[in-house]
Amino acid sequence: MKECLFCKIAAGEIPSTKIYEDEKVYAFLDIAPQAPFHAVIIPKQHIASADEINAGNSMAVACVFEAIAKIAKQENLEKGYRVVNNCGEDGGQTVQHLHFHLLARRNLAWPPG
Ligand code: 5GP
Ligand code: ZN
Repeated sequence: MKECLFCKIAAGEIPSTKIYEDEKVYAFLDIAPQAPFHAVIIPKQHIASADEINAGNSMAVACVFEAIAKIAKQENLEKGYRVVNNCGEDGGQTVQHLHFHLLARRNLAWPPG
């Protein structure tokens, strides 16, 4: 997708702080972190949102979650983490390329207790 921000980040056309990359997945630090550790994990394949996942492209999502497990070890997130996907307008999705937020290094338990 020519005009997609995250396609451009994955292609290196827009700079980002890369933390992980493989053939199918790219991961980088969020520009506006919501936790002490906040990364964005994307499939390199352009999928607009979680609502567009189907039998033909779901392997890209499996690859993202395999990457998340590797990143958690690489970044020493042994205390745990939260993975978030925002989908669509009411879900708060602002970039129309499927992505997963990886948040860590503070207590994210909800409800708190
Ligand atoms: P969404 O709100 O769609 O779930 O998440 C989009 C995320 O991308 C936001 O957390 C936002 O801070 C992040 N973001 C938007 N533009 C950029 C950018 O140019 N670089 C980086 N590193 N993150 C971005
Ligand atoms: Zn894209």
